[in-house]
Amino acid sequence: MKDAAILYLVVPCYNEEEVLPITSGLFLDKLKQLIGQGKISDQSRVLFVNDGSGDATWEIICRLARSDQHYLGISQSRNRGHQNAVLAGLMEAKERCDITVSIDCDGQDDLNAIDEMVDLYYRGNEVVYGVRSNRDSDTLFKRATAEGFYKLMNLLGAETVFNHADYRLISKKALEAFSEFTEVNLFLRGLIPLVGFQSAKVYYKRSERMAGESHYPLSKMVKLAVDGVTSLSVKPIRFITVFGLLVSLISFVGILWSVFSHFFGYTVTGWTSIICVVCFFSGAQLLALGIIGEYVGKIYLEVKRRPRYIISARTWDEEETHEG
Ligand code: UDP
Ligand code: MG
Repeated sequence: MKDAAILYLVVPCYNEEEVLPITSGLFLDKLKQLIGQGKISDQSRVLFVNDGSGDATWEIICRLARSDQHYLGISQSRNRGHQNAVLAGLMEAKERCDITVSIDCDGQDDLNAIDEMVDLYYRGNEVVYGVRSNRDSDTLFKRATAEGFYKLMNLLGAETVFNHADYRLISKKALEAFSEFTEVNLFLRGLIPLVGFQSAKVYYKRSERMAGESHYPLSKMVKLAVDGVTSLSVKPIRFITVFGLLVSLISFVGILWSVFSHFFGYTVTGWTSIICVVCFFSGAQLLALGIIGEYVGKIYLEVKRRPRYIISARTWDEEETHEG
């Protein structure tokens, strides 16, 4: 067995003043329990990433950091979204630890799964995915849309682990490889499998949010899904090509038919068919343009090479930490 590894728990927080006071204690208890068992080093930390919250989240993080050395925090210069917040935390942690576990701050992910994740790491896995074994705590709507989302993603060619969100262990080694992925359009759960290495899964029960409310309304979920598909797969463009070919074939038959009709004098009426054809094809063309536009937009954002996160404060740089 290797020496006890340094574990960093990476916790993105966006407007979570209600839930942080409850869950921060649970994170620390878990960390101390693992340290006590000798599974992880005493250098292990809980690293909060404030994602440009508008409420007292950062003040709470600063207070926690002063209260116990196992708490650390970084703050993003503004809200950049969950994926970028996790990335900022992982990249910051990578310099100081052997393993990271990313976890939501709302207490929905079962902390006890970390024990097994760490065991699996010692058994040679560089990535361990936390997979939900149930969705009882979700509404029927959330469950249906989320499960449909995973199925659609895989169908469209973006390989993802079914029912795995962003609760996972990643080793320093895998993170170093991942830092070579420089894309701006982040969809971590599709990108990490691309990094490769030996991986494993841990099943856990997902529970209710302990306080506060979700920051993932349907609109954000749809955006995440579109980002996921368009940044991992070109299948939609291929569909267009195949569809275009099919339409060309049908049109060819249509042309033959119209020429034939012309010579046999059946061409008096025809308004309905023309309107139908025009409507159908203008719709199809707009859809095709839209899908291509999605990719062009992605390219536009990627070529800019803008930073993917900007950290404005760290709890361990005391002088730069402005509270309140
Ligand atoms: N989150 C974030 N930035 C955002 C939205 C969410 O860092 O712009 C964090 C949030 O604080 C939480 C995690 O991402 O720790 C998951 O969000 P949430 O619980 O609201 O989503 P749900 O579990 O309902 O899908
Ligand atoms: Mg949640």
